[in-house]
Amino acid sequence: MPGITESGTVGVDHEAAGQLSPRRTSPIQGRPPLIWPVAQAVVFIAFAAVVVLLFARPETGLTLLFGIAIPLLPLTFLIAPGLWRNVCPLASANQLPRTLRISRRLHPPKWLYSYGYPIAMALFFGLVCARPAGLDRNGPVMGAVLLVVLLAAFIGGLAFKGKSGWCSTVCPLLPLERAYGRTPLITFGNAHCRPCLGCTKNCYDRKPANAYTADLSDRARSWRVPRELFAAVLPGFVVGFFTIATHAGQPLAGRYLGFGLCVLAGVALFGALSTFASTTTLTAVYTGVALNLFYWFGGPVFTAALARILGVNVDWLRWPLSATVLAATVWWASRTAGVNRRVSRR
Ligand code: SF4
Repeated sequence: MPGITESGTVGVDHEAAGQLSPRRTSPIQGRPPLIWPVAQAVVFIAFAAVVVLLFARPETGLTLLFGIAIPLLPLTFLIAPGLWRNVCPLASANQLPRTLRISRRLHPPKWLYSYGYPIAMALFFGLVCARPAGLDRNGPVMGAVLLVVLLAAFIGGLAFKGKSGWCSTVCPLLPLERAYGRTPLITFGNAHCRPCLGCTKNCYDRKPANAYTADLSDRARSWRVPRELFAAVLPGFVVGFFTIATHAGQPLAGRYLGFGLCVLAGVALFGALSTFASTTTLTAVYTGVALNLFYWFGGPVFTAALARILGVNVDWLRWPLSATVLAATVWWASRTAGVNRRVSRR
């Protein structure tokens, strides 16, 4: 698939499509193309502006964060996760100590290496579950959460080498980024790790086309199962969140109960289906379904936020948005099936 390769030029990522256990050291050295530092600065300033708005004008800040930025992320992860990994403000904060040459570059401790992904899952689900309780209606609290997360990413980069202190271990967006970005439609070269320090296993930034499939095919059950569980939870989580958890008219405890039952039903179905389908296939199906459900329910949230900002009704946009997501998912699914076939032949 065409994209900007590791050297920063436009090319085709043939190598990534054929390798399953990427652990080699990257030969990429030197500065990334100028476009990346500029894009990182622009996105960081936009992030800082949203944080300021969350404190100063909470309604505008919450609209921009929950109505515009968050709804755009899953589709970005599906199409070009490397684009987000290169410009994410948390990644910029995490890599700042390395850029300033003040990182201690420690090896991540065993617990962080082994349990980073389950911790990231817990943070992701925890933050989303906090929304019905009021997180998405309280600008200053949400602003404080973003500042804490930014500080944690910076401290992770100060202590640990590469991205092992945040982006590749405990970042709450990592599980979603890996699941949706399983076989990216467009790949971008890594703008941060020059050179690669070999800080993590099956690194997305090294081998975007198959790093997640390598995770799902790992011999270690403790590595594989949390990733399968994340995919198993996703569709029920999306349906429960939009149809039950965010229905403000109902008592909060009842909403959480219904939300939880929805998740359990999805996971139980995954367990039943896994008796006659491979988990590599099932995780892809579940992930694709979850993404389309997210835009089916979340499309109107996005168009309503856009209408508030532009001052014109753009309700119609939900249909082309859902159609685009469906088309991209079909393309993604065919690429994923190809990678799965290559894995099963080995
Ligand atoms: S995240 Fe770690 S393994 Fe991946 S490219 Fe960067 S330094 Fe290398």
